[in-house]
Amino acid sequence: MPDQAGPTQRDLPAGSRWREPFSVLQTNLQEVDADFDVDAAVAVVEDHGADTWMLNAGGISSFYPTDLPFQTRNPLLGTRSSGDLFGDAVAAAKGKGFKLIARFDMSKVSARIAREHPEWLYRTPEGEPQVYNTLFSTCPSAEYYQERTLDVLDEVLDRYDVDGLFFNWFNFNERDYDEVNQPPCHCASCQAGFAEFSGGKQLPAVMLGENFGLWRQYTARTLARLTARIVDHVAARGRDIGVLLRRGAPIVYAEGNNAYRAMPGKDFWPHAPAEAVSAHVATQPDSSILVNCVAFIDATYRMGNEEPEHFAQYLLQTTARGGNPSAFFFGAPGRLPMERALSRGRDVMRFRRDHADLYRDLRPAAEVAVVRPDFGSVTGGTFWEVQDEFRGVYEALLEQHVPFDVVPVADLAAVEARGALDRYRLVVLPDVGVLGRGAPAVDAYVSRGGKLLITGTSGVSRDGEVELACSPAIRPLGAALAGNDLWSTYATDADQPRIGEYHYEGPILPVMGRYQRFVWRPDAARVGCVLPRAPHAPPELAYGHTASDDPEHARGRYGDGEVVLVPWTVGRSYREYGKTDARDHLGGVVRSLVDPAVTADLHDRVEIIAGESGAGTVVHLLNHSGVRRRSYGAHVPVGGGSLRLRGRGADDVRAEALVAAVPLATRVDGDDLVVELPVLGLFEVVVVATAG
Ligand SMILES: [Zn+2]
Repeated sequence: MPDQAGPTQRDLPAGSRWREPFSVLQTNLQEVDADFDVDAAVAVVEDHGADTWMLNAGGISSFYPTDLPFQTRNPLLGTRSSGDLFGDAVAAAKGKGFKLIARFDMSKVSARIAREHPEWLYRTPEGEPQVYNTLFSTCPSAEYYQERTLDVLDEVLDRYDVDGLFFNWFNFNERDYDEVNQPPCHCASCQAGFAEFSGGKQLPAVMLGENFGLWRQYTARTLARLTARIVDHVAARGRDIGVLLRRGAPIVYAEGNNAYRAMPGKDFWPHAPAEAVSAHVATQPDSSILVNCVAFIDATYRMGNEEPEHFAQYLLQTTARGGNPSAFFFGAPGRLPMERALSRGRDVMRFRRDHADLYRDLRPAAEVAVVRPDFGSVTGGTFWEVQDEFRGVYEALLEQHVPFDVVPVADLAAVEARGALDRYRLVVLPDVGVLGRGAPAVDAYVSRGGKLLITGTSGVSRDGEVELACSPAIRPLGAALAGNDLWSTYATDADQPRIGEYHYEGPILPVMGRYQRFVWRPDAARVGCVLPRAPHAPPELAYGHTASDDPEHARGRYGDGEVVLVPWTVGRSYREYGKTDARDHLGGVVRSLVDPAVTADLHDRVEIIAGESGAGTVVHLLNHSGVRRRSYGAHVPVGGGSLRLRGRGADDVRAEALVAAVPLATRVDGDDLVVELPVLGLFEVVVVATAG
């Protein structure tokens, strides 16, 4: 994507208060909330352990008496004696010393404004507007978003002492609230803008139509530039006002929600908040991230409560990975029955408030980086298939208690340029496809002594060339085997002395997804073999697997580093079938490359997240035993576990469990320090500090 992280990136100023941890309660108001009790709401903010309140200011409906002709006052504002809900809210928040974030939504205007400014609207190729619930959708290319947004901000910032700004639905409007997809916008601004961007090409007439990829780049550039303009406009006031927007903004907005409904197979990915925060914290040290954690089911059931433990997981994963949590519900506090959803999450927010010092300088201490694919990196198969390899590796490491960070593939070169890749002792490339500018970064990292684990066809260009000089492979041998061609195909690293008699030694691992054959470097150590397809039916004839020359994995050295290439999708195989022999095999390969500084002897449903702060080593333990098909339910208490800190056996340390509020027994095992854990509830935070 052009301009995504380049000239439009806006960092937080040095010394900005938004670099400090903050916790938000967002009350997303409706018109009928115009007369609610702002002091009672501030008390709810405090009760949730939050220090920042986000509420509606302007856009679709203004909760203050706007004088701008192209804005719409909430028709019920007059029911309030002051006539100014937002102003009252600012005063109430400031009275308690809380920060206040003003929420805007520029994506729609009233029918009156639409009549007066038809040039601001989304248009189909036939020139039709998009109308939803009497509101007309606007276009981010056009004047309303591009210019009038700044007027709205100026009116609010001139009148009120707000601390931050957030824009809802800051996007092109092709998908409406009924989840109906319309064609890319054909308004006059889009036609002119896309022609300039593309060198005179036509806008795609339909989604995924001709020039669709270019159009996606155009929309990304438009939004990135607008984000930068808004940030610069606000920064000129010199008031350290935080701007929450998409990536590239000083405070990046993400959501913890049930977004699996639109995914293929409606796949619920329980680790979504942790993954999003880790990908940010590991790559964007000069901006912060807020995860808006949704207390209701989704846009179609806004009074339907999220499961309490699931909502708590959103907040917990955000907190443990170093993000800023936001609890989000509809309406004035108490008007909708959301208490059930909020109940467990409140404990997480309060814990974070009560340990503010620990979170102020918490930073990740994982020694493994798992690189995340994106739409642009995928070469073989679909994005969703490649994502499954990433998720299979993610779950395998999590369950084996190997702490890791997530690094988006597009950020590899930037992370290396900052010198931050050296924080990792192992980088994993799970079938990510094309590395591009990341390839020389990975080579440099390995040559300095880094370890690299490659699965599938990571690091092979679209032209079929191996991009990595450090790879033990010279070039691919034909297209990867995939789908049915892999049925009844196995991989093994065990010796098979009796294979000629069709007698096999375990583990024999099913190969699912892709297997890429390679021409190997002569000095590569080839380990194990693949047993290619043999008949799998009928039973009487289902035998005959023989060893091929293709290895299960290969090892090579490069500079001072070491590389293992597993040429099949072991993560997908684990994700598809859930058989732990594939997971444990991957874990064995990982541990042959790195011995983590922090690991655990624990049930595999407990995740450990390693961090460092001024207090010492900080380990968050997240109990995922409540995970269900589409949510989290009540967890099972987990007892009898321990943490192991490599090489810390000789240290004089003090270990404490902050949730249980108890000191922890430690013992020395060889060079290592073992910390005995209490019975784990939903979460625990262990601090191991040097004594004295
Ligand atoms: Zn447009």
